[in-house]
Amino acid sequence: MGDWPLWRLRPAALVYVLAVQAVAVSLVFVVILTTAPPAADTLHRFGTLAFTAGLVIVGTSLSIQLREEVRRDPWTIHICYLVSGLLTLPPNLLVLLLLGPALHGVLDVRDQPHRWMFVTAATVSATFAARAVLGWHDPQWTPVLLLSASVTLLSLRAVIVAVGLRLRRPRASRSDVLGDPIDVLLGIVAVTLGMLLAVAMEFHPASALLAAPPMALLDMAGQLPQWRRSAQRDGKTGLVNAVHWDKLARAELSRARSRKQRAAVLLLDLDHFKRVNDELGHLAGDAALASMALMLRGSVRKGDLVGRFGGEEFVVLLPEADIRAASEVAYRIRGSTASLSVPAQDMRGAHRVLDDLTVSIGVAATERVGYELEDLLVAADAALLSAKAGGRNAVSLA
Ligand code: GH3
Ligand code: MG
Ligand code: MG
Repeated sequence: MGDWPLWRLRPAALVYVLAVQAVAVSLVFVVILTTAPPAADTLHRFGTLAFTAGLVIVGTSLSIQLREEVRRDPWTIHICYLVSGLLTLPPNLLVLLLLGPALHGVLDVRDQPHRWMFVTAATVSATFAARAVLGWHDPQWTPVLLLSASVTLLSLRAVIVAVGLRLRRPRASRSDVLGDPIDVLLGIVAVTLGMLLAVAMEFHPASALLAAPPMALLDMAGQLPQWRRSAQRDGKTGLVNAVHWDKLARAELSRARSRKQRAAVLLLDLDHFKRVNDELGHLAGDAALASMALMLRGSVRKGDLVGRFGGEEFVVLLPEADIRAASEVAYRIRGSTASLSVPAQDMRGAHRVLDDLTVSIGVAATERVGYELEDLLVAADAALLSAKAGGRNAVSLA
């Protein structure tokens, strides 16, 4: 327990996480102590809903494990049955339904259990807040209340989780904190499915089972951002990979051609990078590549397109830049590379600082080469070769 990752959180994050969990646990106790035992018909409704939810949770978890994939937060499944429960069950049975997210935490292999405990606690508070909006003992299904409760459930949970993430990692990216835009759409679809399920259960409780296939499909759709990211990004550097960069660069160049704007391409290759691997090991080499990528992203404007071309080679498309502007960027990058200082471990685990990286850069611009991507890359590559031949740590113009 003493070496739990929880205790390694920053103090503000630790206090926040513990407070969120304390509120959730207190809410559960208050609800259990203040709600009358359930009637037989609500128990029947709860049984079919819990059975359906359990079926989907276990089924999707098994399928993910068999395919040896790592899944994102399966939140959309939980939204469906929690919304139905919010509308049709007394608060104490809603508490039992909240064991669903906990069941997921047990079934899915997780390296940091405190994270799903925290997210589950956020779910508990958001669910009871939504119930309070609908009417604690006798939830009302008016359109305004349904809309307000849905907004409360989705946004309160999102805000609680986002604040936790910001406190834990103040430099986390916007999409890490807020999620992907498709998550909002999936959340709305899950809420509406949960409401339809509640309506169907009013006619016959067993109709809950009809929701199992769409819930499983929603869970698969929830993996889309992860699949898209891994298809487009390079895992080591977080940069756009070569295939996706090619696609984006072609679109950007055709836009530049039709607007009669200039553009330029930089091709970069780290000098004597093999030595870094040979002397310090491949992990140190990877750390250098990641630092280089971070520096590149910080050295260009927002619309510029940085990609990992391959190995220790990077590529940058600079829209609206002529050869002069592009060479200024290239010289700036060359200088920043020479000033990089990368903390790393060598093959014996000893701490080392890598501070002698240099880069050679070839520059090609549309005003000299035209708007075809292949022509620009061939020209930039030829310029890069001449920078290498001239002694490296240099910029060469095509
Ligand atoms: P030059 O100045 O001529 O470019 O010399 P170099 O050693 O950089 O060139 P070379 O192309 O011979 O070697 C590139 C090295 O980059 C070889 C390979 O070990 C290393 N490399 C490529 N991709 C990766 C990677 O993902 N991680 C690590 N650590 N090393 C990589
Ligand atoms: Mg190379
Ligand atoms: Mg090299």
